[in-house]
Amino acid sequence: MEPAVDTQTAAPDRSLIKKLAPARKQLLACIQCGTCSGSCPNADAMDVSPRYLWRLLLTDNAEEIFKTRTFALCSTCYTCTLRCPRGLQITDAMSLLKQVAASENLPLYKRSIRFYQSFMESVRRHGRVREMEFMTLYFMSMKNPVIPLKFTPLGMRLMAKRKVSVEIPSKGTQKLDAMFRKAREIEEQS
Ligand code: SF4
Ligand code: SF4
Repeated sequence: MEPAVDTQTAAPDRSLIKKLAPARKQLLACIQCGTCSGSCPNADAMDVSPRYLWRLLLTDNAEEIFKTRTFALCSTCYTCTLRCPRGLQITDAMSLLKQVAASENLPLYKRSIRFYQSFMESVRRHGRVREMEFMTLYFMSMKNPVIPLKFTPLGMRLMAKRKVSVEIPSKGTQKLDAMFRKAREIEEQS
């Protein structure tokens, strides 16, 4: 069972609380029913449940929110959003928390941030993700030769079954560059 959220002694970090305001606004009508937690396929891997995360958000407990990896483990499946009895945009709120963690460059989420950056870089280059290039970019960004070695047996098995193809990272067609530039501009303005 999760502990009660401490609403009295949470140290307020005003700048982070301000950045969390759009996510908080989306969850204002939460009735803490727990349907999102019960529906989430990734809940077992999360350190606190989505319901608990929303309680932290609604009490402006930014410090505790950014000690959890719950939102980083959200795979954007939208099940919780479909089932929430209040019709809240839960998945979007999870994405907003990811964006704040990335913009603040918080150490706990560095691997997730690199993972997303590598994924998007592959999409930007080719218009779709190319698995081998994506993983190569991701492992290179970690600058730790031990991590790729751990995944080598899995990579070999996938290649043997033709699930991924061997390819050298290339610049690709870069036809999506303009779209990516525009998205960055919009993000910087918001
Ligand atoms: S399902 Fe909706 S109302 Fe229920 S706890 Fe989750 S966010 Fe709140
Ligand atoms: S969108 Fe995220 S939080 Fe919601 S059910 Fe799917 S994985 Fe869980």
